[in-house]
Amino acid sequence: MLSKNDVIDVEIVDLTHQGQGLAKVDGLVFFVDNALPGEKIRMRILKIKKKIGYGKVEEYLELSPNRVQDLDANYLRTGIADLGHLTYDKQLEFKSQQVANNLSKIAGINDIEVLPTLGMDQPYAYRNKAQVPVRRVKGQLETGFFRKNSHDLVPIEDFYIQDKEIDRLVVFVRDLLRRFDLKPYDEKEQTGLIRNLVVRRGHYSGETMLVIVTSRPKIFRIEQIIEKITQTFPQVVSTIQNINEKNTNVVFGADFRTLYGKATITDSILGNHYKISAQSFYQVNTVMAEKLYQTAIDFSHLTKEDVVIDAYSGIGTIGLSLAKQVKQVYGVEVVEKAVQDAKENAQANGISNAEYVCAPAEKTMADWVKAGIKPTVIIVDPPRKGLTESFIRASVDTAPAKITYISCNPATMARDIKLYQELGYKLEKVQPVDLFPQTHHIECVALLKRKAE
Ligand code: SAH
Repeated sequence: MLSKNDVIDVEIVDLTHQGQGLAKVDGLVFFVDNALPGEKIRMRILKIKKKIGYGKVEEYLELSPNRVQDLDANYLRTGIADLGHLTYDKQLEFKSQQVANNLSKIAGINDIEVLPTLGMDQPYAYRNKAQVPVRRVKGQLETGFFRKNSHDLVPIEDFYIQDKEIDRLVVFVRDLLRRFDLKPYDEKEQTGLIRNLVVRRGHYSGETMLVIVTSRPKIFRIEQIIEKITQTFPQVVSTIQNINEKNTNVVFGADFRTLYGKATITDSILGNHYKISAQSFYQVNTVMAEKLYQTAIDFSHLTKEDVVIDAYSGIGTIGLSLAKQVKQVYGVEVVEKAVQDAKENAQANGISNAEYVCAPAEKTMADWVKAGIKPTVIIVDPPRKGLTESFIRASVDTAPAKITYISCNPATMARDIKLYQELGYKLEKVQPVDLFPQTHHIECVALLKRKAE
């Protein structure tokens, strides 16, 4: 019988959807961090449950040829780059395979070719947004990232997948906070002031927003701090304070105060300009978001006769990218600030055939059915939990010829596609697009077509 702390030699046979190595011993399945298929390792057992266990590499006995050997271990420890130890071409293969597995296991679809994942030429330094906790480590204020499944801060200066200008700004602000002797937040003691730094930088515009998340309103000598930041980083056009007094993992509280400059930054996607607020969703990889949207647009084969629903529309990026090719766009989004941004973005780009509703998509879809709106194409881009059954049924009631499904979670997408197939739609093709290189996250576009009656 195997038990905790035993050390055994095993071979890694698979990679889980979260990028952990998988070994099978005595009818048990073990999950191991930093272990790749084909590798032989000496494994220490950390924990055993009925059918599964967790192990840790004590020693590598045989390495995979697909291993990136010089990756900084902190990127795996923190999960910043939880697939960074796998070569990039294999990451892309892994992602297509994951999508195919989900479609097969969850939706029973085996006859569809999942296209090779579209990747980046330079799959690093792509994130246009940073969300960095500020804590005390060994007596000093530090910025970095939490160790996986914990709130222990690992100090980090180079975040590997983040825009280098953002990294530079974070280090500069960290040094200022130290110099001005501002106290980092302490979750256990419920003391300290500075909780997080959130930075957004327009990929094309370079316009940068800094959000300082604090536990209380007053920041001592904040004017001087901002002056120093904007002197060195003139591209910081917006500095915002967010106050979060709650003991919670949610980064932002409800209270946003613009301390300097504008409340938004501007960036462009596929030729349109967008205003982006601190609390609006905006794809973190601009270059690949353009490829993703273009894929969705190409899959939808749009004409001037088309009436398009853009569900889960955020600040309007998808619908506004295609508005000029179609007759009408209807968008729906639940975050009020994002809907405001979408309306302003439509106007600022000279688009008059896009309307936005602020409400849950499932409710609005049913309202649109009642109002007799007849979309020809519905594009959905839901969060990780996917669509609801009520949304799917209402969308089918409007009988669009095509449904273009953009997903950041292939498991819920497969579940939803299964129901669409039962309701008269057929999956035509799936294209994964790598929005999150070096991580296990998968994004893809699927095209469903209505079957002839
Ligand atoms: N299409 C946008 C946003 C995609 S992210 C883009 O590409 O940028 C998903 C969006 O769904 C977020 O903006 C989130 O606020 C919104 N959302 C989450 N639940 C929702 C719901 N029930 N109804 C409508 N929108 C929702």
